Amino acid sequence: MLIVMDHSAASEQIEAVIAAVEEMGLRAEPIPGSLRTAIGVLGNQGYVEDATIRNLPGVREVLHVSKPYKLVSRDFHPQSTTVEVAGVRVGDDCAPVMMAGPCSIESEEQMLASARIVKAAGAQILRGGAFKPRTGPHSFQGLGVEGLKLLRQAGDEVGMPVVTEVMRIGQLDDVCRYADLLQIGARNMQNFDLLKEVGKLRHPVLLKRGMSATIEEFLAAAEYIVAEGNDQVILCERGIRTFEKATRNTLDLSVVPLVRQLSHLPIIVDPSHATGKRSLVPVMSKAALVCGAHGLMVEVHHDPARALCDGAQSLNGPQFDTLMDELRCLAGFLSA
Ligand code: PEP
Ligand code: MN
Repeated sequence: MLIVMDHSAASEQIEAVIAAVEEMGLRAEPIPGSLRTAIGVLGNQGYVEDATIRNLPGVREVLHVSKPYKLVSRDFHPQSTTVEVAGVRVGDDCAPVMMAGPCSIESEEQMLASARIVKAAGAQILRGGAFKPRTGPHSFQGLGVEGLKLLRQAGDEVGMPVVTEVMRIGQLDDVCRYADLLQIGARNMQNFDLLKEVGKLRHPVLLKRGMSATIEEFLAAAEYIVAEGNDQVILCERGIRTFEKATRNTLDLSVVPLVRQLSHLPIIVDPSHATGKRSLVPVMSKAALVCGAHGLMVEVHHDPARALCDGAQSLNGPQFDTLMDELRCLAGFLSA
């Protein structure tokens, strides 16, 4: 950490900062410059909490060299992690994994019809939401535990592992009973109690990026899970909130190669929630693979016009079939 002092900082202020650093059990190395003094902080094992320093008189800014994450960083763990979801491997040296299915589980018929479509097209993991984080309380909130059972039933029927969102700790027992992969949604990326709890489990976790989360915050959220002992974490870029309203979110694809540099965890992309528009999903799916995504999560409904949630961004069967054909072609080209 480097503490940069104001150019007008008095020598007593510099002394006070040095004393505060030493009180934290660290070494302070003043670096006088022609305009201002900087103070290097040495001897720390990782990220230093700067709250006490930042507000001291004469301090202009505090620059961190260490990040608030360590276990998920490539510096600490150079070898890429492969996550296994009931036999499906996600990571480097694995073919891109497609997770697909409806936004919400609506009925036995709907779940099974969607499962048959995505299985036949070649997807590996079946998705479906039972606990839905809807913006308004009057929208369909999901079928809850009944939905989990229907998802499991459909997954077993077509022979696919299943992923579904868990919104709070109280739902974990049920979700773990029926799902192979636990999804933490964008709205819960910083639900630290939930992150710690899934970190104590052996289930793999799909952690979606919060809609206003920086990459540092995203990786720090993953650190919460890994720090509790569960390193089976797949990251998911699903678009962030920007000033742009023409798309539901802004798909930040640069995150994919950057996260692959910074972290050993696999990362997938959800172009459905990122764009909110069915017509953009195929092209952004392909762009994600070109950027190095280890997989995709795409919403598919057998009858999108009648979907209870997110129909506008859901592909129907023939559209998903075409996309899978195109992705196979692209994946072959990328791995050649
Ligand atoms: C979802 O995948 O069902 C979902 C709600 O996504 P997000 O958390 O990314 O909004
Ligand atoms: Mn959705």
